[in-house]
Amino acid sequence: MPRFHYPCPGCRTTNSLHDASCRFEGTPWPEIENAYTDIIAVLTTDEITEAALRTEVHSDWSDRHKGALETLKRDRRVEQDNDGTLRLLTAAEYKELVSEPTNEPMRTLYEYGSVPGCHDHAVFAMIAWYEMVGLSWPETRENVVNWLHSSGTWARGGFEEPSPEALVEGKRHVYEAGYGWKQAAQEAKAVIDRSR
Ligand SMILES: [Zn+2]
Repeated sequence: MPRFHYPCPGCRTTNSLHDASCRFEGTPWPEIENAYTDIIAVLTTDEITEAALRTEVHSDWSDRHKGALETLKRDRRVEQDNDGTLRLLTAAEYKELVSEPTNEPMRTLYEYGSVPGCHDHAVFAMIAWYEMVGLSWPETRENVVNWLHSSGTWARGGFEEPSPEALVEGKRHVYEAGYGWKQAAQEAKAVIDRSR
């Protein structure tokens, strides 16, 4: 199944399987991706207001563009100042920022860590999430190993592997296959919430 570089603005899928109620179901993927690249192309060269961006985008400003911009803001690839000016984060700024997930369900996984009973889902979700936000495999591995320590996950036990490094290395296939993080993260969060 082909994967796409940007998440669907409606349901965040990165393949052709949308959520049942997604308003972009049936929209050709090149049109969705073009909406993202239209916006990024303008913001790469200029910091401008949302109103100016709409004018700058040559094709008609569509629901796809609106959704793409909302997604870029929510994912914090684009910042908006109080005066409405939009700014595209540099790749380095963005990588720094995304190493700490701030939205649920990832925030619970990141801050509280995993507990026995959901380790598979939690580690899967962490790897898939870092892959989705664009980190390389070495960066992903480093972040997930750090998280296993800092969140207390490794200390809680329940792993067969001898070390955090071995655990993460053994799940490299998750990174390479580009699985979605959402379902695994939701299932892990449910187990973590019950244990708290
Ligand atoms: Zn969708």
